[in-house]
Amino acid sequence: MSDQEMDVEVEPEEGAPAVAELDPETRARRDAALRHVRKFGDPVLRTTALPVERFDAALASEIERMGELMHDALGIGLAATQLGVLHRVLVYRAYADDPITALVNPVIEWSSQETETAEEGCLSLPGVHVEVQRPAQVHVRALDATSKEVRVQAEGLEARVIQHEIDHLEGVLILDRISVERRREAMAAMREAMGEAALLA
Ligand code: ZN
Repeated sequence: MSDQEMDVEVEPEEGAPAVAELDPETRARRDAALRHVRKFGDPVLRTTALPVERFDAALASEIERMGELMHDALGIGLAATQLGVLHRVLVYRAYADDPITALVNPVIEWSSQETETAEEGCLSLPGVHVEVQRPAQVHVRALDATSKEVRVQAEGLEARVIQHEIDHLEGVLILDRISVERRREAMAAMREAMGEAALLA
């Protein structure tokens, strides 16, 4: 497993087009969605999110909006933190044919000793693609939008994206899970990407 990306850029399908090759409409929708995503430097990304206590219509619409933005941004996962909402809520869809899953107040109850290393990106870190080592399997307990208990036993890309998004709820970024040297390279790549974005805006 390599070249998989989290809440970033392109769905990890074989032959998925590079961003530069997206048709103009898809690209415009993606750019519009990305404008809602908080980027590196925003202190919210370093803040611990709070448990959800009210399972009401506002939560349901928050979750629906997260799913739409994730879809439009061509991401496979999104944490509420990335939209500046400090709720312990994440959405993901590891594989294109799967429905979108929402996890509220997720807790990792078990993770495997076995780890896997694969490339991750992040919608909040433009231009950053780094190899991240994580437990290969996790068991997660959470609630859905209606406060019904959800249990997920995940492996592969699904396990990876869930762990990446739960990290966001703790204020942790993939930059924290790599060596100092790799981080220096990632920061340079991000400065370049964010500089370009600023020039295009
Ligand atoms: Zn991310």
